Amino acid sequence: MRTFDVIVVGGGPTGEEAAARLSDRGLHVALVEDRLIGGECAHWACIPSKALLRPPEVLAEAARIPGARESVDGGARVAAVLERRDVVIGVDPATGQPGDEMFAPWVERHRLTVVRGRGRLVGERRVSVGDEELKARRAVFLAGGADPLLPPIEGLDELEGVWTNREATTTQEIPERLVVVGAGPVGVELSQAFQQLGSQVMLIEGESRVLPRHEDFACIQVTEALAGYGVDIRTGQRAVRFARDGDDYVVTTSDGATARGDVLLVALGRTAATNDIGLETAGLNPGGYLEVDRHMRVHGVPWLYAIGDINGRALFTHMGKYQARIAADHVLGDEMAVAHGADGSRAPSVIFTDPQIASVGHTTESATADGIDVVTYDTQTSDNAGGLFYAPDATGTARFVVDRERQVLIGCTITGPEVVDFLHAATIAVVGEVPLDRLRHAVPSFPTRSEIWLSLFEQAGV
Ligand SMILES: Cc1cc2nc3c(=O)[nH]c(=O)nc-3n(C[C@H](O)[C@H](O)[C@H](O)COP(=O)(O)OP(=O)(O)OC[C@H]3O[C@@H](n4cnc5c(N)ncnc54)[C@H](O)[C@@H]3O)c2cc1C
Repeated sequence: MRTFDVIVVGGGPTGEEAAARLSDRGLHVALVEDRLIGGECAHWACIPSKALLRPPEVLAEAARIPGARESVDGGARVAAVLERRDVVIGVDPATGQPGDEMFAPWVERHRLTVVRGRGRLVGERRVSVGDEELKARRAVFLAGGADPLLPPIEGLDELEGVWTNREATTTQEIPERLVVVGAGPVGVELSQAFQQLGSQVMLIEGESRVLPRHEDFACIQVTEALAGYGVDIRTGQRAVRFARDGDDYVVTTSDGATARGDVLLVALGRTAATNDIGLETAGLNPGGYLEVDRHMRVHGVPWLYAIGDINGRALFTHMGKYQARIAADHVLGDEMAVAHGADGSRAPSVIFTDPQIASVGHTTESATADGIDVVTYDTQTSDNAGGLFYAPDATGTARFVVDRERQVLIGCTITGPEVVDFLHAATIAVVGEVPLDRLRHAVPSFPTRSEIWLSLFEQAGV
């Protein structure tokens, strides 16, 4: 039996962050991984999806800008896009097999012991991996993430070859007709990617709109843009039955209509990876997300932490890594806890559609639902000197949600081309609760689209 200070089960971005931080501060750490270091994010989610989205995005933006548009003579070159995607996710060009060798220098730098295989709790601070048992002196971290959810809808479990994000992001072929079920961030981003790479995409959503948790204007703009690219969007239609008819996948929706495709991509959410990890041995129930306190300790089990997607608080890589830092520091004796409202539905999030959506904190609707009296200020993202150098006709809006009484920014949504890097300024203002009469001294450079902040100050009268 090998003994470590901390055992981290799950080598995705969250487990990596925790393991490296603990090791860098002098603890002896085991990182247990049963697939690939890098996890879902690096191999089947964030990274490959952005690799598919970026080339068509660049071309679309260039095609809108006079002087560049004249040189754009077609869409993205699919083979080159897929080749580049393979490089960034670590596919070995010789074998075509995915790998995680690119993480080897990182493992070495942080002096981690990687243990390959499935980790299962087998008692207090004990984890089995295959035939071996590992013991932790201080704590065990569960960072096993989440799996694609395949809900119990008629016919779905009988179908073979259905795509989840894993097949979609690693595909070597672009299907002619793709049916995407679910218009959350994953469904919307992948619809955009495949439509631009040559598929005819049909996007089916049970709610009345795509991206239901975002500001109305963001949802409308993305819907119009997707439709402009040719995506056939069907909202307010729940998928109620799945079947095969010859080579076609057939989806029947709640209004009795049917949709057909060569490939079916189900993007209906995620489910916690908490089955078959020995939770019973710690008196916990498998199946659901693990409930944690503000230090990420699992309720009722003081030596066990759950970080990242597995606790369901905010299914983003950056939030999992934030939780990892909090949990690691707690083990190291720091009482820092997750800041109130800093994760959950108010976490910063970016959606890499065209237009992109960058948002943090409250939407108008969520603030009102929480009983906060807000005033909102809108401006066009490119209605400033910086905007002159971006597509003059591109859609984009910035909305600032301000707490009327406290005069602080509590939410911000920005849409437009290449706006995702705007978000961090807004995140600092929201998390720092910077009063507007202080914030106005943060001067945006000229000529940049960050002058949207000047529009906020002008409208707010500060
Ligand atoms: C298509 C798609 C696009 C996304 N895009 C973004 C984005 O742009 N930005 C963003 O912030 N988020 C994005 N996300 C969400 C992001 O992928 C997750 O929030 C993130 O991967 C969570 O990290 P994690 O470390 O908690 O889990 P994971 O990345 O799922 O890693 C968990 C790892 O643990 C391993 N594991 C599980 N159980 C065990 C066990 N018992 N023993 C050993 N190993 C185990 C798994 O094999 C896996 O490698 C996207 C998700 C999807 C599906």
